[in-house]
Amino acid sequence: MKRRGQTRAERDQRRQQEDMNRTQCYHVSPKAMKRPKTAAERRQRVAAILEKLEVLFPAATCALHHKDAWQLLVATILSAQCTDQRVNKVTPGLFQKYPTIKDFAAVSQAELARDILSTGFYNNKAKSVIGAAKKILAGFGGKVPKTMEEMLTIPGAARKTANVVLGTAYGIASGVVVDTHVQRIAQRLDLSKQKDPAKIEQDLMKTVPPGKWILFSHRLIHFGRQVCQARKPRCVECTLNELCYAKDKTA
Ligand code: SF4
Repeated sequence: MKRRGQTRAERDQRRQQEDMNRTQCYHVSPKAMKRPKTAAERRQRVAAILEKLEVLFPAATCALHHKDAWQLLVATILSAQCTDQRVNKVTPGLFQKYPTIKDFAAVSQAELARDILSTGFYNNKAKSVIGAAKKILAGFGGKVPKTMEEMLTIPGAARKTANVVLGTAYGIASGVVVDTHVQRIAQRLDLSKQKDPAKIEQDLMKTVPPGKWILFSHRLIHFGRQVCQARKPRCVECTLNELCYAKDKTA
């Protein structure tokens, strides 16, 4: 009898501890989650997501170091398939060697490729940077333009790059930056069911108020790097857990 009593007590204690752990870790099973059904519920959920991201990353900004729109454009082109940290190691020397857009327009592709070797895909990137410098000099009086339409005529600048430059360098909300983090998290949080970045961006632009596009992009990218990581999302410590019913949510 004594042994049975002790066993039950131990079991109760263990269950109590498990309950506490569950509370501390915020975990809610995706199946147990109530999904929004009406437009009002969906709006409420999006507002809660935006609020939690704001609390997590109040002053999120672009991680690429730059002094002006041109430097940010170059850094963004170099950041394709490369980490921002790596780009930040390369750009100080690069901008010292080529201080103006004219310097970039005048350098040979082979030489620039050598300068940016460690960022990968250096031949294509060198071609884009030189092409962008020439286009900005010839078509925009040497200044990085301020509209999406004009940005998209610049070699190496698709919508993602244009949104980064317009949003961060000029504070112009032209859309939402959709990189791999934003792509993944938009799907996990059921903000878009699309796979194509352009379609995901359209969904996010409909869901998120325009005044929040710039910061929302930065916050989601930080969130993707630090919490909702690709292979091992840190769901147990994620403050968005109670709003998330992603299939690959971890317990
Ligand atoms: S880390 Fe990502 S997948 Fe996990 S609960 Fe948070 S938002 Fe959902």
